[in-house]
Amino acid sequence: MTPADDGPNPEYTPKLLDGLEKRGVKATFFLLGEEVKQYPDVVRRMHDDGHLIGVHSYKHVNFKEVGTACTLQQIEKTQKAIYDVTGEYAGYIRPPYGCWQKELDAQVNLIEVLWNVDPRDWATTDADTVVQRVLKDTKPGDIILLHDASASSVQAAFTVIDTLQKQGYSFVTVEELLLE
Ligand SMILES: [Zn+2]
Repeated sequence: MTPADDGPNPEYTPKLLDGLEKRGVKATFFLLGEEVKQYPDVVRRMHDDGHLIGVHSYKHVNFKEVGTACTLQQIEKTQKAIYDVTGEYAGYIRPPYGCWQKELDAQVNLIEVLWNVDPRDWATTDADTVVQRVLKDTKPGDIILLHDASASSVQAAFTVIDTLQKQGYSFVTVEELLLE
């Protein structure tokens, strides 16, 4: 499955949604509250299309650096932004940089979701490089980390889906994966 972090992006997220729709694939998007407020229409479509929406943070902060109070505020503001658009609160969180604090578990009623496969798509503009890294590392049940923030990442997502579907993989949301 392919979660996409850091969105919604006004240019690339709709392109990703178009391609996912064409392929009948549901993904998981970990959103930035600040961007949700800016691009509510993209989030509304994401929700209407049946994708799973999770919390990333409000302004892409490192939870380990900003402290508990700020972290809780970042999560709460993002939840509110998501709720205002979709009418639902998210049940999942992917902390930026994968930085979580164990003591937050008691205070945050969200399931933390990290990843198994990280092609570092944000560090290259070459879709083929991203595709090769993903295909090399992915095995059944894995969570692939991608970002809906560049043309190469979106193209890579489509090629990965097309290639792995031909190999018999199916793509599900994080929720479906965890329930399996
Ligand atoms: Zn991020």
